[in-house]
Amino acid sequence: MTLVLDVGGTHIRYSIAQDLPLEVVECESKDTNLYTLIESVLELHPKIKHICISYAGQVRDGVILAAPNRQGDEGDIKSYFEQKYDLKLFIQNDLSCAVLAEAKFFETQDLCALYVGTGLGLGVMSGGRVLDGFSNIAAELGHIPYKKAPFMCGCGRDNCMELFASGLALLKWKQYYSLAEEMTFSDLQKSSNPQAQKIVALFEEAFIHAVGITITLFNPEVLVLGGGVIEQNRSLLTQLAKKIKDYAFHLSTKECTILITNLQNAPLQGALLLKENRDA
Ligand SMILES: [Zn+2]
Repeated sequence: MTLVLDVGGTHIRYSIAQDLPLEVVECESKDTNLYTLIESVLELHPKIKHICISYAGQVRDGVILAAPNRQGDEGDIKSYFEQKYDLKLFIQNDLSCAVLAEAKFFETQDLCALYVGTGLGLGVMSGGRVLDGFSNIAAELGHIPYKKAPFMCGCGRDNCMELFASGLALLKWKQYYSLAEEMTFSDLQKSSNPQAQKIVALFEEAFIHAVGITITLFNPEVLVLGGGVIEQNRSLLTQLAKKIKDYAFHLSTKECTILITNLQNAPLQGALLLKENRDA
């Protein structure tokens, strides 16, 4: 039996994996202690022998190094559960999990997964290998210094790309301009309020930059877009198609297919692949 979890900035989704599609339980991320949640599931299902975690933060060798959009998980989660229980635990950054699932779905070895959810995340597969870097924190697109914002990023700086193109950025900009927090991205687009228009323009500009950087640096065959903000606002793709040639190297753009994800929950599906992937 395998427990598979997708730990995001807004939600934690988990499932006892038997077959796809996964039957998923969802809870609020900020109110949930990850260790307590896993222990309560293990108590109910003592036959669990594998735990696979897709994590919205930086992880290395089973250790959670940092989580800009969550708090309190830092530490050696792999050793904790493997020493206490008779099981194996695999954990990887959520976009590194997503890219495994997306590459399997699109049957390609050169794919980037760029997701705009709570944060702005990127996973890169090049030549069939997930790009991990020296400390397993490569491709942190959301934390590329971009422009100064009037508030801080979870990583401690005030100029990250994620402060302009992410779900959290939209919330922070609405708070900054005292706009109703319930306004969705599409409400902002339709609004005649100049500050709402400014938020949309800042978001689109940063998002297209993020895609341009990704295509120029990694030359993927397929670039998959996903995450709540993208999936609920497909009009962004039209903007992107119109403008991308001005934001990316033309030879890379010409050969890259940009698509929106078809998968229900790529990070969760990718987490399941971790135990088959020797890099995990
Ligand atoms: Zn940051």
